Amino acid sequence: MNTLVRVHVICEDEEKGRKALKQAFDVFKKIDHLTNRFPENKPVAFSPGDVLKINGSAGLKPVQVSADTIRIIQRSQYYAGLTGGAFDVSIGPVMDSWGFGNNQQYVPADEEIGRALSLVDYGKVEVDPGKATVFLTEPGMSLDLGGVAKGYAMDEAVKALREVGMKHALINAGGCVYALGTRPDGEPWRVGIQDPRSSGDIVAILSLKDSAAVTSGDYQRYFEQEGVLYHHIIDPSTGKQARELIQTTVVSESATDADILSTALFVLGPRRGMSFVEDLPGTGAVLIGPDKVVLATANLNNQLTFTGDGGYQIARNVTQKR
Ligand code: AMP
Ligand code: MG
Repeated sequence: MNTLVRVHVICEDEEKGRKALKQAFDVFKKIDHLTNRFPENKPVAFSPGDVLKINGSAGLKPVQVSADTIRIIQRSQYYAGLTGGAFDVSIGPVMDSWGFGNNQQYVPADEEIGRALSLVDYGKVEVDPGKATVFLTEPGMSLDLGGVAKGYAMDEAVKALREVGMKHALINAGGCVYALGTRPDGEPWRVGIQDPRSSGDIVAILSLKDSAAVTSGDYQRYFEQEGVLYHHIIDPSTGKQARELIQTTVVSESATDADILSTALFVLGPRRGMSFVEDLPGTGAVLIGPDKVVLATANLNNQLTFTGDGGYQIARNVTQKR
């Protein structure tokens, strides 16, 4: 997943704690293997994971995959429908045209983007849960689960920790955080939301208990060309970077949902994004625009504290309905 994963468990039995840690990391390794779309730099004996197999059979045949892969794609498809395709896991060809993943990043010509974009359509991702198969109906299509895999792995890791009796844990996987239970003193975990323009600083602190907070940002993966920053979150309606926001954070009991939604809101932008997320039960969001204006859903009022640093302007509850 190209990120550092940190799992922090607190329990009285050291051996039990160490076993729990290992299980959590094993989950991340398993989901990373299933969802990785790049075969390079792997040992010769490397066996391809589900996404590599699905992409390799695009336009040819359905591929049998694990229950995890089915669940990840089904949830993604659900939100693709709800967001009118703002979240679309068939974004692979466009990610490739921008060179994300192979470190040969450059700004592609509009025709190249257009060709890649013609292969992006979540409606052509066929999932058959009964047979446990996934089929990309057009040759050249490819899945990119980079916007959801970390969150799903997080939920599964949390499940594993709970199963072995862990009561207090904090997991952080590159902008994706889960607070299991409370801190040992009974207080909620406190998690900082990074300043999107100053990596060592924080804009706000979230109090979390049995909840995920997932952040997407234009600073997480990007390249620069002629002074312009080109980042990794693409608006599937244009094939180009979504630019109405610079950071989105979503709070939910489901890290999978929070991960999908942080990416989706980034694409939807402040107006459509706020309108959309305010109607989703159990979901909070903090959106930051390039003008440093911060929007937050009202349901986070009791668990969100702004630091006042960095010159951000907080516009609480000033959302406008469509
Ligand atoms: P995140 O950091 O969770 O916001 O996910 C960003 C990653 O999701 C990118 O690096 C791509 O792999 C993928 N991605 C980019 N744009 C989209 C999109 N519109 N829908 C779904 N996945 C996307
Ligand atoms: Mg995401």
